[in-house]
Amino acid sequence: MAAPSDELDLAEIERNLRARRAEIHAKIAELAKPPERGSGVSFGKRVGDGTTEAVSRLNEIGIGNNLLVAAERVDRALAKIEEGSYGTCDSCGRPILAARLAVAPESVLCIDCARR
Ligand SMILES: [Zn+2]
Repeated sequence: MAAPSDELDLAEIERNLRARRAEIHAKIAELAKPPERGSGVSFGKRVGDGTTEAVSRLNEIGIGNNLLVAAERVDRALAKIEEGSYGTCDSCGRPILAARLAVAPESVLCIDCARR
């Protein structure tokens, strides 16, 4: 039986994930725009800092949580592609069903672990 990554078109999945990531981050940036100009907060110049600021701002105003969760999942899935662990569960290490990945390419947990 082939490993799950052999059945997956990782290049295609990575393209999809990167497109989704860009979309999510664009929405977060939109939502997280500083309310005032010249407040000393700049978003987007350095992704890490800007994202951290955006996250705290979003948490404060209580919106965008779904976007943040989605962004984290996509980031983790992309990291797994780089690590070569894409398609295996982050929790139990067992293969994630290809059918699940086809529906939700950002999945990093198998169905069993995701239900827990
Ligand atoms: Zn699992």
